Amino acid sequence: TRRSSAELIAAEDGVLAHNYHPLPVVVARAEGVWVEDVEGRRYLDMLAGYSALNFGHRHPDLIAAAHRQLDALTLTSRAFHNDRLAGFAEGLAELTGLPAVLPMNTGAEAVESAVKLARKWAYEVKGVAPDRATIVVADGNFHGRTTTIVSFSTDETARGGFGPFTPGFRVVPYNDLAALEAALDETTAAVLIEPIQGEAGVVIPDDGYLAGVREATRRAGCLLIADEIQSGLGRTGTTLAVDHESVRPDVLLLGKALGGGIVPVSAVLARSDVMAVLRPGEHGSTFGGNPLSAAVGSAVVDLLATGEFQRRATELGEVLRGGLTALLGKGVVGFRSRGLWAGVDIDPAIGTGRHISERLMAEGVLAKDTHGSTIRIAPPLTITEEELATALAALEKSLR
Ligand code: PLP
Repeated sequence: TRRSSAELIAAEDGVLAHNYHPLPVVVARAEGVWVEDVEGRRYLDMLAGYSALNFGHRHPDLIAAAHRQLDALTLTSRAFHNDRLAGFAEGLAELTGLPAVLPMNTGAEAVESAVKLARKWAYEVKGVAPDRATIVVADGNFHGRTTTIVSFSTDETARGGFGPFTPGFRVVPYNDLAALEAALDETTAAVLIEPIQGEAGVVIPDDGYLAGVREATRRAGCLLIADEIQSGLGRTGTTLAVDHESVRPDVLLLGKALGGGIVPVSAVLARSDVMAVLRPGEHGSTFGGNPLSAAVGSAVVDLLATGEFQRRATELGEVLRGGLTALLGKGVVGFRSRGLWAGVDIDPAIGTGRHISERLMAEGVLAKDTHGSTIRIAPPLTITEEELATALAALEKSLR
């Protein structure tokens, strides 16, 4: 017998770790921008798996690529070669302009890999004294959940109780170039930064900041690592968020949408001379670069190579911006947006972000709060203008 949403939520509550507080919806099916719950209620998905579903649920090209690969080969480990990995890596290198690829699975793994890569580069190439390498990060960052990554989080909920912490990180205020420059010295291996801070509430730095960080890292002789796990792959209207300032990082981190919402796929991309410091046995992953991931990832690269999704994000981003501007003073006290990505600050007098998310759910729209009174809007890039208008109307209604 099939269990109801309420029964499934109660069952989860009894058996699962309570490290999440999901909205009370149990999704059973999805297509494109729409999801359907166990009872057949339909919702517009305005979260898109934290941008892992940039191409919508079950995009036909991605599903076809996965099906084809399931019928041929799913896993080899990197002990052997597989016939899908080369094409995936070549496509990714061409799409991003960074020639060397290290395939991993999750975002946090890509970040961890980049930390190791930067440290090794610092010792072998820059000549930093053994075990003295530092990595500069920004206040308000979100790079994942591992022990090393939470070591340099500034969010007490994310790090409290999880020490002792990994040393070797310096935290500077985000969007403050002078503070960042002051933190760079002969020990600096890299600056690790989100071009737009997603989890912090879609925080967009001033124009010129990223170009300034690029220039400062070049002058200091350290690497620039751009974490585009959430901001990349079309979300902001360009393939990468750093493209808005024509910045080319030395190391680029991708994840989420790279797996097409089907499989976890992440990657570290780097200059060849930087990636060259990793040699056999020094790093790896059982599942990284597996043929199923590579096949889906290749299909994702093919979708992005058309430019269609970047174009849609730019055009519909204007519609989103217009709709949110109209809500200013009507329950919205401020917002930040680029492409199809917005952090919307709700008047605390109306309710918390959680309240508004629950009201939106009642209106048939799924979105998620972040940091108290901010709602993040990040629909699949396949959303139509009409569907976006529906979501904006629901938001207006939920603020009344
Ligand atoms: N980096 C950024 C910028 C992210 O937004 C996230 C996830 O939200 C991560 C890293 C971690 O990715 P994952 O949850 O796949 O480990």
